[in-house]
Amino acid sequence: MMIQLFQRAAATSAILIVSCFICSTATAQPTELVSFDQYLEKKNTVAGGTPWVLEKFCPVSTNIIARRVLESYGAMFVAKDSVELPVSCVQKGEGQVLAFQKKIPRTPIDVRGVRIDLQTAAAQALQQSINEAEISGLTISALDGPIAGGRSYGDTLMLWNSRVFPALAYWIRRGKLTSMDFDELAKLALEKKVEKILEWESKGIYFSTDRSRSILTSTAPPGTSQHLSLIAFDVVEYWNPQVRSILNRNGWFQTVVDDPPHFTYLGVAESELPSRGLIAVLKNGHQYWIPNRSATIVTDSPTN
Ligand SMILES: [Zn+2]
Repeated sequence: MMIQLFQRAAATSAILIVSCFICSTATAQPTELVSFDQYLEKKNTVAGGTPWVLEKFCPVSTNIIARRVLESYGAMFVAKDSVELPVSCVQKGEGQVLAFQKKIPRTPIDVRGVRIDLQTAAAQALQQSINEAEISGLTISALDGPIAGGRSYGDTLMLWNSRVFPALAYWIRRGKLTSMDFDELAKLALEKKVEKILEWESKGIYFSTDRSRSILTSTAPPGTSQHLSLIAFDVVEYWNPQVRSILNRNGWFQTVVDDPPHFTYLGVAESELPSRGLIAVLKNGHQYWIPNRSATIVTDSPTN
């Protein structure tokens, strides 16, 4: 069920009430409410320098992809200061991603025989989580091999296509799209392809693996994945509350609604997240920390 929880910029006490209900550690004390957009501006404006402008970083007013990407994956942009982040919410093409990844301090770690490539701070926090899990007789494993961690632009393109093509075939078989739609989509530049798919999804023609949800909950458009920033890790044991708790204690949080295996390294205590413009949302037993700018927020639902 979708509910209209609040309009962006309306950071009112209603947000705190929802946050209190589902996140005791975040709201044990009265919390000063900070909008996500305001927090980004504060974080990115250098003292004495030109004010940082959200629209330059992510043209949310004019570009549907930018807005959806920021609302779906934007939590990573409030990570602790030492985490390296892209200078725009959508990285344009492989060259830009490569240049960004080149400057990231990274440390590969071995996760039960799988090499996982992450920013050094994220790798250390994951290793600490693995160690703590072991002490409790638990395991933390990588979902689907090395792509559980850092990814290349090519990886994200491959994953995107692995959702798009089967969904196209599915909707053509169902008569909701035609082979002419397929041909026209094929001619478009990547950004326009993404726009077209989001437009179809607005009419209920979904592109996630099970065709019941947005493709954005299944995989990110190329150039926008948190995995490109080497601060995301997909966990096999995401269903285990003890594992989630260990990861949370070490700065790793679920941040993409309807993608419960996906954890993001934010590197701060959970109690600090509301003051960084994030809000906790509960869905299907999972707590997601997402930007509080989202116009609509998905709440608990039995649909998946
Ligand atoms: Zn992921």
